[in-house]
Amino acid sequence: MKESARQDSRDAGVALANARDERRDSDEEPPPSDATPRNAQSPLPGTDAAVCADGDVTVWDDWQWQLRHRVRSVAALKRRFPSLRTTAATAAAANRFPLAITPYYASLIRRLDATDPVFAMCVPDGKELVDPPFLRDDPLGEDGDMPVPGLVHRYRDRALLIATTACAAYCRHCTRKRVAGHTEECITGVRLTQTTEYLSVHPEVRDVIISGGDPFTMSTDALERVIRAVREAPSVDIIRIGTRTPVVLPMRITDELVRMLRKYHPLYVNTHFNHPAELTPASEAACARLADAGVPVGNQTVLLRGVNDSAPLLADLFRRLVRARVRPYYLFQCDLVRGVEHFRTPVAKGIEIMEYLRGRLSGLAIPTFVVDAPHGGGKIPVLPNYVISASPTHTVLRNYAGDMISYPEPCNDLPLYAGGGPADNSGVWALACGRSSQRSNRNRRRSVQRRAACDSVSGQQLLWPHTA
Ligand code: SF4
Repeated sequence: MKESARQDSRDAGVALANARDERRDSDEEPPPSDATPRNAQSPLPGTDAAVCADGDVTVWDDWQWQLRHRVRSVAALKRRFPSLRTTAATAAAANRFPLAITPYYASLIRRLDATDPVFAMCVPDGKELVDPPFLRDDPLGEDGDMPVPGLVHRYRDRALLIATTACAAYCRHCTRKRVAGHTEECITGVRLTQTTEYLSVHPEVRDVIISGGDPFTMSTDALERVIRAVREAPSVDIIRIGTRTPVVLPMRITDELVRMLRKYHPLYVNTHFNHPAELTPASEAACARLADAGVPVGNQTVLLRGVNDSAPLLADLFRRLVRARVRPYYLFQCDLVRGVEHFRTPVAKGIEIMEYLRGRLSGLAIPTFVVDAPHGGGKIPVLPNYVISASPTHTVLRNYAGDMISYPEPCNDLPLYAGGGPADNSGVWALACGRSSQRSNRNRRRSVQRRAACDSVSGQQLLWPHTA
């Protein structure tokens, strides 16, 4: 038993050997190459020589090569982008929170400053050192809900398994940065055994989310060992895997990987696109490979100031995701984790965005806006308020255009309100007591102004230039 646990641990560490190689490789000067990799779309001047360090265009599509050649230090970042300006604060931020950028993801950067969304999400910024007291290392209180190390069991029917601490690229806004990237390790055989033993005596767990870190950075064999162990728990109906590889390392979604995944249905994948710039032909093809294998793909977007806090931009992202057969699942308010103060938006911004999306996008393309509450409070959906008033006989609702509509409740034995109240039938009172069924907002001055403003925005060219 002990020997098999040791063997599991050794096997599960395949990806770690790569990670250790990466640290060595990424600090070395990559040899120049004239090759322009497939899927790379006009990188900044100076990046062509760096992306295909082996001088072989075929390696670009090799996910292991991409992992080995990640940018892992500020020095490597400056070699990749010679005109990049860094400060002592950049290095301090990189020391505090891990840095890794795949050559593929680096090739999506168009401007060398935080006005570029990809740059902002992966390049360290001195602003990460701002540390107000309400930010935490573990903002969701996950560590307090771990009955077994690495297994978070908070909601009765769900559990989350941290299968690895490694990611292909480290997001500057990561919620789990206390775990991800400080060391890069996969779950050991001992931990996996502890997990399956826990699941066997907790049949209330029907849904296991395999997360990290990013489980798709593990070798396919090591990942299969984890999935198989979870699938063997009789009570588990659904397995979900959280991964950002379709975004930062789309070549990881290989035929070999999807062949393995399809053996363990029902299995879902949730990925993490935040901006239309991340939807490239390569990432769309990765999502298509998963969908073709019968894996439903969902997306979790984090609302980030200066990156995607724009309703038309998110409408564009969600439309494209649906087109790529990826269902927008959650739009997250930024968690209260250290290093993200500059990314945080007011909750009201998310509500405003949801208000904009409703009525413009198919319901299929609209995610749920969620605040994952601090102190382990769980996910709280936040909606614009569509209920204006409620009486025993009628509920007054507001639609996306601001029209008010009275919905009669199924209480026919209650008499309609017969008297009193204002005499005219144009207000909420008339709707709530059933004297009137609808109050249109169409011709009101503010409504006309709002429609005109929205029409002018939606008429603009919203396509992100290099993914058109
Ligand atoms: S891929 Fe996920 S776990 Fe990894 S750094 Fe990004 S947000 Fe964090």
